[in-house]
Amino acid sequence: MAANHPGSMFIAGGTDLVPNLKRRQFDAPTLISLNALPDGRGVDGDQEHGMTIRPGTTLDELAHHSALAGAYTALAQACGVVSTPQIRYMGTLGGNLLVDPRCNYYNQTYSWRKAVGFCLKKDGDICLVARSSPRCWAVSSSDSAPVALALRAEVTLQGVEGTRRIPAAHLYRDDGIDYTDKRPDEVITGIHLPAANGQMTSAYWKLRRRPAFDFPILGVAIALAWDDGVIREARGALGAVGSQPVDITSFLAPLIGQRPHDDVIAEVAAAADKPSRPLDNTDLSHYWRKRMTKVYIERALRDACGLAPLTGRLTAQLAAR
Ligand SMILES: Cc1cc2nc3c(=O)[nH]c(=O)nc-3n(C[C@H](O)[C@H](O)[C@H](O)COP(=O)(O)OP(=O)(O)OC[C@H]3O[C@@H](n4cnc5c(N)ncnc54)[C@H](O)[C@@H]3O)c2cc1C
Ligand code: SF4
Repeated sequence: MAANHPGSMFIAGGTDLVPNLKRRQFDAPTLISLNALPDGRGVDGDQEHGMTIRPGTTLDELAHHSALAGAYTALAQACGVVSTPQIRYMGTLGGNLLVDPRCNYYNQTYSWRKAVGFCLKKDGDICLVARSSPRCWAVSSSDSAPVALALRAEVTLQGVEGTRRIPAAHLYRDDGIDYTDKRPDEVITGIHLPAANGQMTSAYWKLRRRPAFDFPILGVAIALAWDDGVIREARGALGAVGSQPVDITSFLAPLIGQRPHDDVIAEVAAAADKPSRPLDNTDLSHYWRKRMTKVYIERALRDACGLAPLTGRLTAQLAAR
């Protein structure tokens, strides 16, 4: 990478990168494959002491990995709902954390983009979603990114200037173009999950048009730590409602010290959708996606609490609030 800088890109499974290259969303003169790196795949450690997932581990492996059951179920759930089996066999966790933010005006063929005059993210001068905006609002569309925040994951980055370990939350920037704090020469060499402190549960819920295929248009990740049936700590993050995953942990505070029940979960869910600000640049109506945020927070919370989903009538009441 040092020899071929700048413009070169790393490629892992290639399931995000190659379609984007075909549509000429990037100009990468050199691709550097990470697949030949030694020890690139696998999971080390355990939930009691903390775990390290090597970035080349495939989504399919993680979706079925016994080491994630229990405390880290949300990560297995997120990996298991990425696109199709074919993508999950090729796609890696490292690549999933770094999916290029998406937009209806950008994830198009070159000729389509040319016909509309291109946009700020590639080849153009203005944002076609918010024409007076100086920034790009492309949407963070990774399923694992909000889970990494909720589980308090960290990542190790190794580059030309050395190695650093940062919270997963610091990997992201609120910008659809300059969306990661990772330098282009840095490789993710490890994704670390902290030791589960006592009993922990987690859940991931994903909204999309076609459940067998599509990117998220909303993702909700929840992680709860328990003491004898009482919630000791609650963390959460939203995906696909902004250019980076959105931390909703502060909105979950009313759950702490509670034995969860329908009312408190519904109250928390109704308030925790506040930072969800979907724009009109992904699938389905952004008004509806906003309304569904509280419904999906509530479903993810109930899942993490081991409670059955609400009936359709109660869910509709929550959406209408
Ligand atoms: C039809 C279709 C549907 C999809 N649906 C979803 C979906 O529902 N949810 C979702 O999250 N994704 C989805 N994807 C995107 C993609 O398939 C997955 O996110 C996948 O996990 C990407 O992993 P990869 O190994 O293929 O990454 P690549 O395509 O190889 O790389 C993606 C990016 O990560 C960088 N990168 C990869 N590994 C590293 C590393 N170790 N260190 C530094 N940089 C690295 C690359 O340089 C590139 O910028 C979909 C893709 C397609 C084509
Ligand atoms: S948000 Fe605007 S600048 Fe960004 S990809 Fe979409 S149209 Fe382009």
